Amino acid sequence: MRIFGKGFNFSQDGPGNRLVYHLSGCNMHCPWCSNADGLSANAGKEYSTKEILSECISCKAMFFSGGGVTFTGGEATLQHDELLLLLQKLKNVGINTALETNGTSQYLFELLDFVDYLIMDFKHYDGEILKEYTGIGIEQIKKNYENNCNSGRQQHIRIPLINGVNTDLPHKFAEYFSSFDTSNTVFEFLPYHEYGKEKWKGNYKIQNGFITQDVLEQFKNTFKKYGLTITTT
Ligand code: SF4
Repeated sequence: MRIFGKGFNFSQDGPGNRLVYHLSGCNMHCPWCSNADGLSANAGKEYSTKEILSECISCKAMFFSGGGVTFTGGEATLQHDELLLLLQKLKNVGINTALETNGTSQYLFELLDFVDYLIMDFKHYDGEILKEYTGIGIEQIKKNYENNCNSGRQQHIRIPLINGVNTDLPHKFAEYFSSFDTSNTVFEFLPYHEYGKEKWKGNYKIQNGFITQDVLEQFKNTFKKYGLTITTT
């Protein structure tokens, strides 16, 4: 398994205190990405699943407040075979697992049997615009979202809000989400930031991406109006 970053984080990548692994490579190329250093499949270092498993077991005492291990990226599901194996092993030793994904994997449902907490991005409701910015269409993302709603599995949807990209029509997001059973789903808005800008080494393309408090409130109010549950981390 190839990993370009790891470290502990409290409550932002799943519940409690978690050991977070950033898996190398991503199939999207979002111009606002804060992990540009990990988008190549060759970024970082190779570890065996055995090495990672024993590191996780040795950290067990640190997983307080319902914590555990989170796999994120890049896009963690690109390494689905090794990820599946590791998730299974972690469950076998009683470690809580979380997965953070861009939602594009056809293998997601298979992985979710061994995931306690799912965080999935949803960047745009319009497939053409999504493709224009990220290089990837929306079909599989919708399929995964809808499957999770239908199955009643827990899911946490994260929507990055970027001025000029996806902030014009909050009701379009809400309309789509609320047309499914969202009783086990929470939604979180992530206002644009520039934390990873320097990692693009001069190739950062987003300008004026910051959103106002008014836009954030509009999204919150619209989602509430549609009966959707909002969370913050
Ligand atoms: S999906 Fe996530 S990791 Fe991949 S390019 Fe977009 S923001 Fe970066």
